Amino acid sequence: MPQSAEKILDHAPLFREPEYRKMLAEKKLNFECPHSDQIVTDQAEYTKTWEYREKNLAREALVVNPAKACQPLGAVFAAAGFERTMSFVHGSQGCVAYYRSHLSRHFKEPSSAVSSSMTEDAAVFGGLKNMVDGLANTYALYDPKMIAVSTTCMAEVIGDDLHGFIENAKSEGSVPPEFDVPFAHTPAFVGSHVDGYDAMVKGILEHFWKGKERTEAAGTINIIPGFDGFCVGNNRELKRLLNLMGVSYTFIQDASDQFDTPSDGEFRMYDGGTKIKDVRAALNAEATLSLQHYNTRKTLDYCQEFEQATASFHYPLGVKATDEFLMKVSEISGKEIPETIRLERGRLIDAMADSQSWLHGKKYAIYGDPDFVYAAARFIMETGGEPIHCLATNGTTAWEAEMKELLASSPFGKDAQVWPGKDLWAMRSLLFTEPVDLLIGNSYGKYLERDAGTPLVRLMFPIFDRHHHHRFPLMGYQGGLRVLTTILDKILDKLDGETIKVGVTDYSYDLTR
Ligand code: SF4
Repeated sequence: MPQSAEKILDHAPLFREPEYRKMLAEKKLNFECPHSDQIVTDQAEYTKTWEYREKNLAREALVVNPAKACQPLGAVFAAAGFERTMSFVHGSQGCVAYYRSHLSRHFKEPSSAVSSSMTEDAAVFGGLKNMVDGLANTYALYDPKMIAVSTTCMAEVIGDDLHGFIENAKSEGSVPPEFDVPFAHTPAFVGSHVDGYDAMVKGILEHFWKGKERTEAAGTINIIPGFDGFCVGNNRELKRLLNLMGVSYTFIQDASDQFDTPSDGEFRMYDGGTKIKDVRAALNAEATLSLQHYNTRKTLDYCQEFEQATASFHYPLGVKATDEFLMKVSEISGKEIPETIRLERGRLIDAMADSQSWLHGKKYAIYGDPDFVYAAARFIMETGGEPIHCLATNGTTAWEAEMKELLASSPFGKDAQVWPGKDLWAMRSLLFTEPVDLLIGNSYGKYLERDAGTPLVRLMFPIFDRHHHHRFPLMGYQGGLRVLTTILDKILDKLDGETIKVGVTDYSYDLTR
């Protein structure tokens, strides 16, 4: 046996031991009816060709490795950004197990949410009883200040009426009549998690603002961050910048503390988040700014109904995008951008200039949520790189048009292509037929890295196979510096790897790069 108590082998080295290799080879030969190695290799090679790419990109019904999730995930994330708020997903409970594990695996933190546990009988008779009992239990057990209700696709298909059900539950005494139970219908078969985020935030604002009179408080700003796997680092960084400017602001939805509680002997089911009194007061803000346009289209329309000024950005990452965001904030608040921030900007530009020779002309494939892809492509072009493939499974035709306009604005975008609605199996074909130097995406990109050999830079939700990246910002000048360093590390690690062979390639294994 290869195991010894002095040096225990886990699965990775253990199954490479000779007896395991032999056992697995025999199992394959005797029981798996395998194709010959030649057939497997030929087929694998065929999937790398232009001919296969054309068939692949012509797919209409089949989706393989989509880079998006369903609406309620976005709603659960959104609800986590409000003070002592429990996410209540009306529908089947398997969905909630998935959202919680998905968020936990990314943040390495607890993720609390409950389900009304609808089953076959509720699919026939409706889920009213589940809502009545579920709200009562959630209220009694988890002591929330607010319960934010969204839906799984099962509840949507059978057409449960959330508003009516919640009113019924209140009249049956599940929660006190004045207890806050905002809701949003979040059908999984429409849009993606970013639309679920939008629906839930809008539902919460509607709950508190509907029928209220607005008294404008000049110079005050609401900020909606959008679905962001880097919310912990980003929200804290943006607050630091806004505090340096002395701006009066409210984050509407802020999960930065909820997904980063300390280990000090106490489990916090709830932490931080936008205070309910601040959500109410946010109606009076002069303006509402969204950091991610495609996460907040309905919410911003709703803010406009109250005659708030609105503006949206595409994930303010990099020099110009951060400039635009800060200048907008300065314009609305009347506050100057202070010297400290100007110096930070200069330091980012200095770093970009220092590393220019390594970045210029590098080719990238980028995928993720629409706003992030826009931001990353924009920053890559600022560094002299070429965003050759820009893909968003949940990208719309409006996003495609905005991307094309962005890419046309720089000579570094001239060979770039935009791929709305495509999945990562399509990206795999793109990487084989028109190769690039780096792939920017999430942990699912590691399979593309394995297949196509394109190094993966993890900057997008979810990041399951690296730890704690979300604690550091991507937005603002500091975030830009971090993205720059991450990309450079990847480029230089690759170069070191290629030049490490003694007497073969190590004439370029330089100490100073
Ligand atoms: S797609 Fe439907 S069943 Fe699947 S997790 Fe989303 S809501 Fe649940």
